[in-house]
Amino acid sequence: MFDATQEFAHALDRDDPLARFREEFYLQPGRIYLDGNSLGLLSRRAERSLGEIVESWKIRGIDGWTEGGHPWFYLSERLGALAAPLLGAEPPEVIVTGSTTVNLHQLLATFYRPAGRRTKILADELAFPSDIYAIAGQLRLRGLDPAEHLLRVPSRDGRTLEEEDILAAMTGEVAVAVLPTVLYRSGQLLDAGRIAAEARRKGVLLGLDASHSVGAVPHAFDEWGVDFAVWCGYKYLNGGPGAVGGLYVNRRHFGALPGLAGWFGSDKERQFDMEHEFAPAEGAGAYQIGTPHILSAAPLIGALEMFAEAGIGRLREKSLRLTEYMMRLIEHELAGMGFRIGNPREEERRGGHVALEHERAPGICRALKERGVVPDFRAPDVIRLAPAPLYVSFADVWEAVRRLKEIMTAREYRRYDNRRGVVA
Ligand SMILES: *Cc1c(COP(=O)(O)O)cnc(C)c1O
Repeated sequence: MFDATQEFAHALDRDDPLARFREEFYLQPGRIYLDGNSLGLLSRRAERSLGEIVESWKIRGIDGWTEGGHPWFYLSERLGALAAPLLGAEPPEVIVTGSTTVNLHQLLATFYRPAGRRTKILADELAFPSDIYAIAGQLRLRGLDPAEHLLRVPSRDGRTLEEEDILAAMTGEVAVAVLPTVLYRSGQLLDAGRIAAEARRKGVLLGLDASHSVGAVPHAFDEWGVDFAVWCGYKYLNGGPGAVGGLYVNRRHFGALPGLAGWFGSDKERQFDMEHEFAPAEGAGAYQIGTPHILSAAPLIGALEMFAEAGIGRLREKSLRLTEYMMRLIEHELAGMGFRIGNPREEERRGGHVALEHERAPGICRALKERGVVPDFRAPDVIRLAPAPLYVSFADVWEAVRRLKEIMTAREYRRYDNRRGVVA
């Protein structure tokens, strides 16, 4: 029997080994934040590391590049090493730099080498638009028409992708495949290991966008043999608005000349020789471009430290329990109210958020916000609910579902019926 009482939610929190991390975050009283997959919250540790960097600038000026607790010149590499365990990679394969979209441009500019029959880039019909824009842009730069050279794996149900369809689409015409780890709307988690193995067998380079999985789901990029990957720093990683993103390049590609070269991709020992001959760094650092955005990287020092302490395995375990608990509560409390769970149900096929579908989703999201629950709306009918395991409790999930039930019972969503537009 499923126990839907508040006491049970509190009991789950008392047994939670990660519960103490919640106290490190700035949570607003009465507010339940379920949007950590769009913008993670500020922790005291991230605030502190940002303060330390600002202080270093204040006191040291230019010398902050090489002195102080976090010398800026080495910060991207240091953060790469801190992020590497989240990706299942070695530190030299990871660099914290740029943004997801810029990093995707960089890695396509580097690794997309159309030749002979292999001229196409494979993505999917449900991909995040920015990724599609970047791919199309890269094709046009090579004088190729995206209408012909950008292939998209179709979705059979408009929510998810079938791995069979992805594997079948990797033909001898595909040079590079760019796929998500977790789909941003439905929260489907793809079997990247299986896709990577097939890609290698078929001579297709595989690039992953891990924006919706980094910090929520463990990865094994090295073990899977992924070629390259990108992700952002402001979602589950809690690096703050516009936080610096990251990229991964498998060691077997070290030495590939960056498509978009810049002096911060230099071998650090030689960068200040100021030679016109580019001497790239040996690892993923080579794919940096210009001066790092230090102030937008600074919060990640404290934020990533928390991931190292909590451990991504334990975070995933809690995340799965939170989302499972949320889905069961929804089914138990909101039965017959027109909701559908749009994410796959199996643990190995879902990421860190629940994709709740309802035809009144826009109004329901507005009403939730009004009542202090922060969801995330994706048109036309998806309410994304992400219980981020570092700072969301089982009692929060219970309370969010209770408020949702009140909204549905009182039909509060009707108030917003005539208002259109963005909710999130
Ligand atoms: C959030 C997200 C992005 C965002 O890219 P930015 O360059 O950081 O704006 C890109 N791709 C996916 C899949 C995302 O979820």
